[in-house]
Amino acid sequence: GRLKDPSLVREEMLVGGQWLKNGEGDNQIEVRNPSTGDVLATLPSAGLQDVRSAINAAKIAQKKWASRSGKDRAGIMRKFFDLVTANTDDLAVILTSEMGKPLAEARGEVSYGASYIEWFGEEAKRVYGDTIPGHQADKRLMVIKQPVGVVAAIAPWNFPSAMVCRKIAPALASGCAIIFKPAAETPLSALALAILAERAGVPSELFSVLPTDNARMFGEEVCSNPIVKKLTFTGSTEVGRILMAQGAQKIMKLSLELGGNAPFIVFDDADLDEAVEGAMLSKFRNAGQTCVCANRLYVQSGIYDRFVQKLAARVSALKVLDGFEEGATIGPLINDDAVSKLYNHIEDAVGKGAKVVVGGDRDARGGTFVQPTLLSGATKDMKVAREETFAPLAPVFKFETADEVIELANDTEFGLAAYFYANDLRNVWKVTEALEYGMVGVNTGLISTEVAPFGGVKQSGFGREGSKYGMDDFLSMKYVCMGGI
Ligand code: ADP
Repeated sequence: GRLKDPSLVREEMLVGGQWLKNGEGDNQIEVRNPSTGDVLATLPSAGLQDVRSAINAAKIAQKKWASRSGKDRAGIMRKFFDLVTANTDDLAVILTSEMGKPLAEARGEVSYGASYIEWFGEEAKRVYGDTIPGHQADKRLMVIKQPVGVVAAIAPWNFPSAMVCRKIAPALASGCAIIFKPAAETPLSALALAILAERAGVPSELFSVLPTDNARMFGEEVCSNPIVKKLTFTGSTEVGRILMAQGAQKIMKLSLELGGNAPFIVFDDADLDEAVEGAMLSKFRNAGQTCVCANRLYVQSGIYDRFVQKLAARVSALKVLDGFEEGATIGPLINDDAVSKLYNHIEDAVGKGAKVVVGGDRDARGGTFVQPTLLSGATKDMKVAREETFAPLAPVFKFETADEVIELANDTEFGLAAYFYANDLRNVWKVTEALEYGMVGVNTGLISTEVAPFGGVKQSGFGREGSKYGMDDFLSMKYVCMGGI
């Protein structure tokens, strides 16, 4: 009853332009509200033939789409952006229902996702090539950029709406078709966006949405089917490794946005209140369930006690509530495994000498609701130092020197986002350059925007989403040499 337009929830999947109530075989996916456990929708689960139908339809549609002008594609994407914006409230309700995040955050996510549609729609007009002064008198050299073709996408559950936009927007803008597999936990946001894309005039064969209970089958098919030219994946490093190995068979073009283990460093000369504010945003947004969330807080000894005290006051004030309740700042975690991992990390840290400053226990609401937790006295032998907790747990480590904290911060196989607060200009440059990360926030805890390149180094993956660089992942470069001029 919360939706203005109930037709945005459809218990079907979109396969090569056809909305289907049943997939190949009779498997179904139950989508549940993580806050209540209630079943929100029952969807068909795509099988191998469904994936193949989507790929075959995409192949034909992609050729037509690529032959249209950039301006033409931009116009349709503008309509799509306008429709997403006009339906923000409903999309946010769908998002909160299936994923649990507070409604205000869900609205923020929908707008953030929409900004990618707007940005890349505009970029559709600017796929510039190059001319190169020739190496011989009778030669003329140039570079043109063309869409890679049919693209597959696999997304996680933590940003059910924005993740769709970040992948489909550059694909559509560059002239690609896209076969999208949402996480089985959160397919409704992707389907709702597909409905709006169709209404905006995006040819429906161009953008399939295939929820499935057989993720492995989907991965194997898109990695071996010769029609699919690229895979864009966001998820765990473990699964990224599997997909990269599978894609090796056909030397597949890949973008991988994998796990993180973000350090958040506060130097003695930092503005304390700003650092605390940044830590709250970076750590507790989405209940700690983002790949760029601060995972390890390193605080210099001179400011350590005051920082912990101020942060404790803020963490105690967080409101653990159902995402639809007024004032909610922390919703439920996505599932029981997420809760177990959190408590495992807390127990491990406490066993090795950390002190619980705030939280540390199960929340009275039960289910997957947990207490936001602050630990002091964290050390590098604890699990919290090595593994991504993906939950509202802030472990605070103490350090003495810049060299020491740089080494600690880089001592991980991950390299997605890092943050630090400092004011000494020389130190700022030294630390910025020394951090082995794809993204660095200096005196800010919030770095994501459609105008900047999002992505990692090391085992956090490669490829970039957003910004002018984000188009390149969906384009192939063709060098043309004209002779006999
Ligand atoms: P998370 O911990 O966020 O669930 P995963 O990497 O397990 O991270 O999942 C991210 C996405 O990858 C989901 O859509 C999931 O269904 C999909 N996935 C999981 N295993 C595989 C696989 N073997 N092949 C292809 N996709 C997979």
